[in-house]
Amino acid sequence: MSLAVLHSRALDGLAAPEVTVEVHLANGLPSFTLVGLADTEVKEARERVRAALLHSGFEFPTNKRITVNLAPADLPKESGRFDLPIALGILAASRQIDAERLARYEFAGELSLAGDLRPVRGALAMSLALRRLGTQRALVLPQLSAREAALVDGLTIHPAAHLLEVVQMLLPGDAAQTLPTAVAERRTTSASTLDLRDVKGQAGAKRALEIAAAGGHSVLMVGPPGTGKSMLAQRFAGLLPPLSEMQALESAAVLSLNNSFDPRRWGQRVLRTPHHSASSVALVGGGSPPRPGEISLAHEGILFLDELPEFQRAALEALREPLETGRIVISRAARQAEFPARFQLIAAMNPCACGHHGSALRACRCSPDSIARYQGRLSGPLLDRIDVQVEVPAVPAPVLAVAPDGETSAAVAARVAAAQARQHERQGCLNAALAGDAIDVHCALSPQTTQFLQNAAARLGWSARSFHRVLRIARSVADLAGEPQLQTAHVAEAIQSRRVLASAA
Ligand SMILES: [Zn+2]
Repeated sequence: MSLAVLHSRALDGLAAPEVTVEVHLANGLPSFTLVGLADTEVKEARERVRAALLHSGFEFPTNKRITVNLAPADLPKESGRFDLPIALGILAASRQIDAERLARYEFAGELSLAGDLRPVRGALAMSLALRRLGTQRALVLPQLSAREAALVDGLTIHPAAHLLEVVQMLLPGDAAQTLPTAVAERRTTSASTLDLRDVKGQAGAKRALEIAAAGGHSVLMVGPPGTGKSMLAQRFAGLLPPLSEMQALESAAVLSLNNSFDPRRWGQRVLRTPHHSASSVALVGGGSPPRPGEISLAHEGILFLDELPEFQRAALEALREPLETGRIVISRAARQAEFPARFQLIAAMNPCACGHHGSALRACRCSPDSIARYQGRLSGPLLDRIDVQVEVPAVPAPVLAVAPDGETSAAVAARVAAAQARQHERQGCLNAALAGDAIDVHCALSPQTTQFLQNAAARLGWSARSFHRVLRIARSVADLAGEPQLQTAHVAEAIQSRRVLASAA
């Protein structure tokens, strides 16, 4: 009888909990049993491991009873990532490699039938978990996965292209060879070259985006087709400060769960632009095993939802929780998975079905009923959570004919960076995240300004939630101006920024 124990990691949301792989060889009726995986996955893993070992020239113990146990049993496990530790466990239990050496490493990788190692998803989540734990174990991963995992500093990560390379590291005695160490590729290509200056006119919308960027507020742009809403959204990331190291790692780690992290985009804010036909699962996440949705792939970046009323109602309603909490919990059967989802929402819509309601340039063909129905597709509670609402009107031809004369993205970004620095120094978070007592402390008003705001709120029939939202936006307006104290002018501009849709009370 012989036993080998190896370490690996599963994926559970962005967490990568430890999995122990135990391989047990015994005399008895020949069999190959895997415990702790779904049936279909067991079958596939067995075939891959057996073929990979034989093709690589090893002995497969066909005359033994092989039992593989993946523990703990109640963790979600995708089979592919455990191929490498299972194959090594069989080699160790049958004394073809040195079992003593296994304790220093964690292994993950899917095997091809010929023994090649294929990348696993979520490699960055594994290395983030190792760093959090402060463990001394080195990670052995397929090449592409290793390059990704190496973005986390302070760990030893060995890339391998084939099962044989890993085995050479684990040979008994002096025969063992060291594997190379993976080096992170942080090729930050220059960020987007799209500049706010390219968008002609639209001073009001540009100002609204500046306020939103300064305080981390979500934005809804309302206007006819072809007025530059998409152009403005594509330029929004250029107004924001660079990501911190931790933000960049988290963003990359979530993208890596979906195999969509590109090292060339390291440290850049993601812009996700799902189509309005996207399902609820595609937008907020789900499936089995649970995968992150667009809102999580946009973590620390921007989620642009064009033609907002065209999205499925259920998908839009599912945005409410993450807009408040910055995370999403996906429940499926008895399990829950949590993904981060701190995204900045930029939404756009036409004011009516034909798109020209309120336009000075073209007549709207919609009846008042149909306009109300169109805008009514967005629920009050959802609109309530979108901080800034701004009109993006049709631009008259003479304005479009002149050369660009507006501010550059860099000029706006400098003011935004200064405003954000003030917020972090004063309250440790952006204004959009201010809650409870912190609003009273940091958004204190003079009696006169209080009266002004209360009158407006009564006239517009605002909820308490809307009232607080205006205070947070006013705080961002004041921070852009470098004013410690909120003035009536700041509050007045904030009120203007929430008055586009009649139903947005
Ligand atoms: Zn219309």
